[in-house]
Amino acid sequence: MSATTTWKCPQDGMEWSIKERKCPTCGYVNIPKSVTLRSHATGKGAALSATTRLGKSVFNQRFADPDAKFAADEQFEIVRDDVHLFAWVIRPVAGARNATFYNGTEVPDAGCELVEGGVITVGRTRLKLTVTFK
Ligand SMILES: [Zn+2]
Repeated sequence: MSATTTWKCPQDGMEWSIKERKCPTCGYVNIPKSVTLRSHATGKGAALSATTRLGKSVFNQRFADPDAKFAADEQFEIVRDDVHLFAWVIRPVAGARNATFYNGTEVPDAGCELVEGGVITVGRTRLKLTVTFK
């Protein structure tokens, strides 16, 4: 299966390269509708369709992940950035005891862009969550 290289603007039907994240004619922003985080340990997850802050209680109750104990009450936020990057972004929440990592690298304060199949962890190895889009 080959990767999709173009997308069609739903507002005016124009077709653009996927590198073009905002329709040059009408300004429609081509961001996936939702991002899903899924626990490697339990297979449970959550689909987010707006900017959301996540922490220990969600990882405990919704993801049922035993590594939830390594997360802070507020560990990181998943941000729908339709102003600068036109992408879903992960940003750390200040004050977490264990840093948030994305694909093995600590997430900087400015955040980093999420891509399909990316892996979020608390510290280098705890609370492994996979990113998928819809
Ligand atoms: Zn358009």
